[in-house]
Amino acid sequence: MYSLIKNIVCCSGVSGREKKVSALIKNEIAPFVDECYTDTLGNLIAVKRGSGAKKLLFCAHSDEIGFIVTYIEENGMLRLAPIGGINFVAAAYSEVVFENGTRGVLVPDSGTKADALTADRFYVDIGASTHGEAARRVSVGDCFSLVHHTTKLSANRISGRPLDDRLGCAIMVEVAKRIKNNESDIYFVFSVQEEVGCRGAKPAAFAIAPDVAIAFDVTGTGDTPGAKPMAVKLGGGVAIKVKDMSVICDDDLVSELHALARDKKINHQSEILTYGGTDTSSLQLAGAGCAAGALSIPTRYIHSAVETVDMRDVKACVELAVAYAEAFK
Ligand SMILES: [Zn+2]
Repeated sequence: MYSLIKNIVCCSGVSGREKKVSALIKNEIAPFVDECYTDTLGNLIAVKRGSGAKKLLFCAHSDEIGFIVTYIEENGMLRLAPIGGINFVAAAYSEVVFENGTRGVLVPDSGTKADALTADRFYVDIGASTHGEAARRVSVGDCFSLVHHTTKLSANRISGRPLDDRLGCAIMVEVAKRIKNNESDIYFVFSVQEEVGCRGAKPAAFAIAPDVAIAFDVTGTGDTPGAKPMAVKLGGGVAIKVKDMSVICDDDLVSELHALARDKKINHQSEILTYGGTDTSSLQLAGAGCAAGALSIPTRYIHSAVETVDMRDVKACVELAVAYAEAFK
């Protein structure tokens, strides 16, 4: 599964610019589903047909946090605005890449103190000396992101950017591949614009009107030096979401997922995230609403260039999702 993850991670897709990554995912999932289509907002939707009695929706967002060029200075430096929740302390002095392949380095204005690191104090140096030279390579309105990569840290742990949420996308491809018997229709939604307010998932869920929806996304951990107390840890198994700042998951669904994990001997833990939200809220509240929950991957250093996970948690997530889909009727 590592090569699938590597492939999906290393493709650019800043919120609102997900076409490239969606096309790549479509190629990966198409052999395992009956149908693939893209809706008005750009959500990629893959369907595995069952008898059609009930509908289960799986969702992972294909977009990533990034930046947009707002201004080109006379000296060829680029000014920018953030797209999504950028941690500028983590982003300072990073390599960045534009959709057209242009490389640059993201740097704060000289003398900026650590507690004043905000978007308007940053510029990108693409190696140009004049406005004209820069403008020949990038334009105002172009998007860019921290450089994509995956690195094996140890036998089970990998670091990369953006694991949030290409990991969820890779998990859904793997789940589609492994499901052998599904009685109900299963929809795989690769949603757009999650990082700017869970926008894509809502119209997708409205159109599908599922009975149950489950999101796959990353969640924080409490197992690093100085971390806020949190019961989730790397290597502790798939994290079954109870709540985050955007959603309280369906109580029965949470219990069902726990029981299934126990029954199948899949390593799992309970997740309560006290910061941040997920597409789960949009799925729950679309149309007349549905029973919604999430299976999360414990992830260290979320939204940095070195998001870090344990592949055993990823495998546990795939196993639980496949078991749930096959039992769903
Ligand atoms: Zn995410």
